[in-house]
Amino acid sequence: MAEALLTLDIVAPFLNEAESAAAFAGLLDKLEATVADRFGMAVHKILVDDGSKDDSVARFSQALSGSWEIVRLSRNFGKEVAVLAGLDQSRGDTVLIMDSDLQHSMDVSIQLIAELVADPSLDVAYAQNDRRGASWRRSQSAKLFYSLINSSQRFDIPENAGDFRVMRRAVVRAVTSLRDKRRFNKGLFAWAGFRQKAVPYSPAERVGGTSKWSQLNLLAFSLEGFTSFSVIPLRIISICGLLAALAGALYGIKVFFEVVFYGIAVPGYPSLMVAVVFFGGFNLTLLGLIGEYVWVTLSESKDRPVYIVRDVVHGADAGNDTSPRVNADR
Ligand code: UDP
Ligand code: MG
Repeated sequence: MAEALLTLDIVAPFLNEAESAAAFAGLLDKLEATVADRFGMAVHKILVDDGSKDDSVARFSQALSGSWEIVRLSRNFGKEVAVLAGLDQSRGDTVLIMDSDLQHSMDVSIQLIAELVADPSLDVAYAQNDRRGASWRRSQSAKLFYSLINSSQRFDIPENAGDFRVMRRAVVRAVTSLRDKRRFNKGLFAWAGFRQKAVPYSPAERVGGTSKWSQLNLLAFSLEGFTSFSVIPLRIISICGLLAALAGALYGIKVFFEVVFYGIAVPGYPSLMVAVVFFGGFNLTLLGLIGEYVWVTLSESKDRPVYIVRDVVHGADAGNDTSPRVNADR
């Protein structure tokens, strides 16, 4: 029987979310009251400012109540890293990660916590986007992405599951021990293992500000997923290369026989051009792909910290401990 859960830390990264600040602080208040009421857990809020250029920090500081802190990173490090900074700072026996743009609802958060409280053998409850309303092309490319990335490993990255999740301390310890610099959280959560359960949900519309994801960003992020977790693209290209070489050899044999035994003059230029251009392009693509993997290796091999904390702003009720725990002993 697991011990009773007493404290919940809420980790929420933000980048230029001034428009959502007041409403999100309101949501946190309601969430805190419900969590105290239903589960008897004390809530501490850890917001991470991922290099905001607007007055988000001032707005959040004004709007937040209860026990809270804002970890200010020295610049924008990306959401994946901001989540890690929040997790590093957390000490609660459970941690909820959610977005601060109100797309992750209070109801689903409560549902996730309830799953964990109800089942002592469960370590993680994660929200899984049911992708209602997503275009056919989007959902098919997501399917392809997950089937490719999951085709060569011992753990499966679940489809459409992001950072929105509740975890026990042991899982947080495991995830924060993974110090990948180029982080692909979905993959890291899956790699860590533990007993995980999906709860389906539909994210709400954004109320203010804009999504920080463009199509191009999304593509780059998918590539990040592959280079961090899968060797499949390299294998596919190796196999293509092998097949091309085989086809070339067969064609060579055919030409040899035609010339030697039938005396046919082989028409050269067009087929030569096709082959040169095709394999030139093919080689460059392969080189680029290998370059991606080399780049990841290079970034990981430099002994830089994953992020830098500028300072930590504490709420009045957060006690006297003002030292950032982040980066300590690392
Ligand atoms: N975010 C962040 N750093 C970034 C980009 C986004 O901390 O570099 C935050 C953002 O403020 C929001 C959450 O991460 O709270 C999710 O970002 P967004 O809404 O842009 O992503 P989407 O919901 O469209 O997937
Ligand atoms: Mg969002």
